[in-house]
Amino acid sequence: MLSAVGPPVTVRVPAKINLHLAVGDTRPDGYHDLVTVFQALNLFDEVSVVTAHAGRPTGERLATIGQGAPGVELLGDLTDEERDAVPVDSSNLAWQAAVALAEAVGREPDVRIGLRKAIPVAGGMAGGSADAAGALLALASLWRLDLGREALMEIAATVGSDVAFALHGGTALGTGRGESLVPVLSRHTFHWVVALQDHGLSTPTVFGELDRLRQGADAEGPLRRIGSVEPVLEAIASGEARSLALLLGNDLQAAAVSLDPGLRRTLRAGVSAGALAGVVSGSGPTCVFLCTDGPSAVRVAAELAGAGVCRTVRVAHGPVPGARVIDGDPTR
Ligand code: ATP
Repeated sequence: MLSAVGPPVTVRVPAKINLHLAVGDTRPDGYHDLVTVFQALNLFDEVSVVTAHAGRPTGERLATIGQGAPGVELLGDLTDEERDAVPVDSSNLAWQAAVALAEAVGREPDVRIGLRKAIPVAGGMAGGSADAAGALLALASLWRLDLGREALMEIAATVGSDVAFALHGGTALGTGRGESLVPVLSRHTFHWVVALQDHGLSTPTVFGELDRLRQGADAEGPLRRIGSVEPVLEAIASGEARSLALLLGNDLQAAAVSLDPGLRRTLRAGVSAGALAGVVSGSGPTCVFLCTDGPSAVRVAAELAGAGVCRTVRVAHGPVPGARVIDGDPTR
């Protein structure tokens, strides 16, 4: 439990997948230009914030913190590996979001942040960014800030490239490092099976592997890149899962599979189980499978769960809205 002054504010924030992820060449600053289509799925982390006690009693998994710094606590069921993989210090993205928001509005980030994680850790579904977005929205509500969504989005973009999308939700086209967002018309629901692994892949390592593969491939011809984004946007607008399935693409997939060759089997197993298509989500290792409809997704999930190619499976749908206050909004 959070040790606190006053009631907490809780925000629910979705995971993202990339329906299209085109990675440009390395920029001078070391980043890559991206063209990506995000979709928010109904796999949610919950972020609770509460004003901290002046005395700050420390919990078992609570970082030792200085005056005026946020504290982060992990709530709910996590495997030991997941717990070990989520930092509770200033490298936690929710902590960084709290500090960024506090600085922007000129106050102390004297809060405790509780994270109840359902988004896989280091799974390519932007769970850390989701928590940062959740912390921003929850604190804006706790502190009763008169900040519009646009101002929060700007602060979000300074914390991490996927944070703005987690606030935004739905389906969106991201460019730059992924932080420049334009909403994508999508009135239809798509049904997905998400295959989670028992380990993560580090995003910088996967980008590094892509650079390595591209350099090596240049001698024998360039590494194939995914096509343009326009047909993907048309398929999303049409709501036709079969059209979208043909166009799912991720330039990072070759790198994720190179680092984790077992993913090839996972991708094949999903399609053999009846999915229309599968793709590695973001930097992996999570794989997502597009299905014709909800019942088909349930069948694919059941078969994939028994195939021994992943830790566990989830049935999900998207798009869903971005971060939302679900409890304790003091302005209501
Ligand atoms: P990316 O957004 O780069 O695709 P991801 O979805 O693969 O990342 P995350 O779950 O966001 O993976 O975590 C990546 C790493 O970020 C973790 O291994 C952990 O060290 C760190 N991290 C920082 N804050 C958090 C957080 N709130 N939840 C999970 N991981 C976090």
